[in-house]
Amino acid sequence: MKKYYGIIAAVSFLAIVILSVEIGKGAVLNESVRTQSSLVDTALSTADSHSTAASVTESTSHATSQQSEETSEKESDDFPDVSLEDWSMVLVGPKNKIDQEIAQSGLAKLSNGYLVDKRIVSAYEDLAEAADQAGYPLVMVSAYRSVAYQKQIFAENVATLMSRGDSQEEATKTTKLTFTEPGYSEHHTGLAIDVVDKAWYQDHTTDVLDHQFGDTDGGKWIQVHAREYGFIVRYPKGKYAITQIDYEPWHLRYVGVEAATYIEDNQLTFEEFIDQAKER
Ligand SMILES: [Zn+2]
Repeated sequence: MKKYYGIIAAVSFLAIVILSVEIGKGAVLNESVRTQSSLVDTALSTADSHSTAASVTESTSHATSQQSEETSEKESDDFPDVSLEDWSMVLVGPKNKIDQEIAQSGLAKLSNGYLVDKRIVSAYEDLAEAADQAGYPLVMVSAYRSVAYQKQIFAENVATLMSRGDSQEEATKTTKLTFTEPGYSEHHTGLAIDVVDKAWYQDHTTDVLDHQFGDTDGGKWIQVHAREYGFIVRYPKGKYAITQIDYEPWHLRYVGVEAATYIEDNQLTFEEFIDQAKER
């Protein structure tokens, strides 16, 4: 029996040497080479051969860099075929004022009574149904808001603060911390909604819009599945420098399924996505 062990060991060693030489040549990366190199890795865990290990490590890192090149090429090929002129690509935010009030005729009521752009009604109803079935029924907190309405609530807040003794300047400054300035809210587009799930809504009557919602099961479900219906979590964590708005796990924006999938898969903000689209 010992004789056979010797033969097996010798054949295995030979195989390792041959494989490492083959890989060392910088062979074209393909499925079979990757399988072979993992076999070599396994064999090495029992064989004590530094030179072979070095050669495999080298070829592995070569393979990895080649693989990531392939991945990034694949990503650029996946870039959705979108037109920046498309209605779903409109950019409104702290740095991008809406041109003018959208036409009321373009709005429609959701089954919950909130107004949105009529072109996203079915996408939202589908999202809401999927959330229901997953056990996270959605509660809407806000949807379309006109510039005029934003002006009104902004002015009301300023007036309230002034009645408490603030100067107009102080009151305006404070109001800006909690209210988007009229004309700069994405809610003006009819493509943005604020939603949480029922469990969170019932437990957080006074602080519904809190970023901790993102850590709940309902918040996580939205983060993962909203894209399947064309919505993105518009203000992701850690992107304030780009969006000028803190993490808002409840604020969804319709951009269409293709763009939403690309944006979320690549962890982009909508601003970054628009920039990439412009470069094409
Ligand atoms: Zn919002």
